Amino acid sequence: MQVPLLDLKAQYATIKDEIAPAVQAVLDSQYFINGPEVKQLEAAIADYSQCKAAVGVSSGTDALLAGLMTLGVGAGDEVITTPFTFFATAGAIWRVGARCVFVDIQPETFNIDPAQVEAAVTEKTKAIMPVHLFGQTADMDPMLAIAARHDLFVVEDAAQAIGATYRGRRAGSIGAIGCFSFYPSKNLGGLGDGGMITTQDEELAARLRQCRSHGSGPKYFHHWVGGNFRLDTIQAAGLLVKLRHLDGWSAKRRANAARYDELLADCPPVVTPTVSEGNVSIFNQYVIRVPRRDALQAFLTDRGIGTVVYYPLSLHQQECFKDLGYKTGDFPVSEKAATEALALPIYPELTDEQIVTVAESIKEFLS
Ligand SMILES: *Cc1c(COP(=O)(O)O)cnc(C)c1O
Repeated sequence: MQVPLLDLKAQYATIKDEIAPAVQAVLDSQYFINGPEVKQLEAAIADYSQCKAAVGVSSGTDALLAGLMTLGVGAGDEVITTPFTFFATAGAIWRVGARCVFVDIQPETFNIDPAQVEAAVTEKTKAIMPVHLFGQTADMDPMLAIAARHDLFVVEDAAQAIGATYRGRRAGSIGAIGCFSFYPSKNLGGLGDGGMITTQDEELAARLRQCRSHGSGPKYFHHWVGGNFRLDTIQAAGLLVKLRHLDGWSAKRRANAARYDELLADCPPVVTPTVSEGNVSIFNQYVIRVPRRDALQAFLTDRGIGTVVYYPLSLHQQECFKDLGYKTGDFPVSEKAATEALALPIYPELTDEQIVTVAESIKEFLS
């Protein structure tokens, strides 16, 4: 039995009849930039994420970049983040001219370890950028306290965590801004690239809107230099349809995760994911740890089971960041995760038979 890592066609089949008229309406209107669907989606995401405002942007990467630019983070500043994340997190810090200061992760959650954050704060620190990896939020309260003590912005990279909650609070509603991605493989995936920035500060939202249109407002009057970070109307139209299904899909992912937890409960050395107390995960990924990871992955590939390694190399070890001066051994927990983590298929449309096949295949490999 084939079990792909992700099957977007299976999901599309369930909403095809809703997507087609929504896209057709945008084609008929020819209102491709800043059409009414963009504002509707912004209002809907703000509401969904318990935020006062949301600003549509061109991608999750641009949400991080435009967010940092608008907060005034730049040359000479330091931003504290995790070395175990998708590249865009650190890439955005680099692109505004600030310095990435990495702090190691917690082994159980793969998220930044708040206990190590304060020691990394210097005179130059301007922001802390926790990432809510694989669908569950980082441990935010200790970081909010550190940020308050040192007058820092908290920028949530919530690209993998739309709808996740931390002690009842939605991802993206906790820091100064929240940055979301609508990359097709995210829980809320668009018909291409897209992103969103959320905030509780209307004045900041107004500046974020300027930033995404070359720092202008009204048009052709530029207060500062932003970029073209706009979200296409056609993306907003597709996302409005999909948002109606998001809670159902995320619940299905949680149910699939619970099933794997049950099936893989007694098979050491496999370690199944930990969801911290007070957290609700949306399981953008279901990531196990296993020592002979690469051999297991090859075995599963042979059996037609798709898996992926998030992430094979920590960011402090990336060639493009060698000037930061980090070396192998600096973040041992992150480095170990890079050798042990393996994401299994978790998408909502998986059948129980497929989940059982994956679990049985893992057990077969171990025996
Ligand atoms: C996907 C992702 C991004 C970037 O989003 P894009 O829409 O692909 O630009 C940023 N951070 C994390 C943690 C992500 O998973």
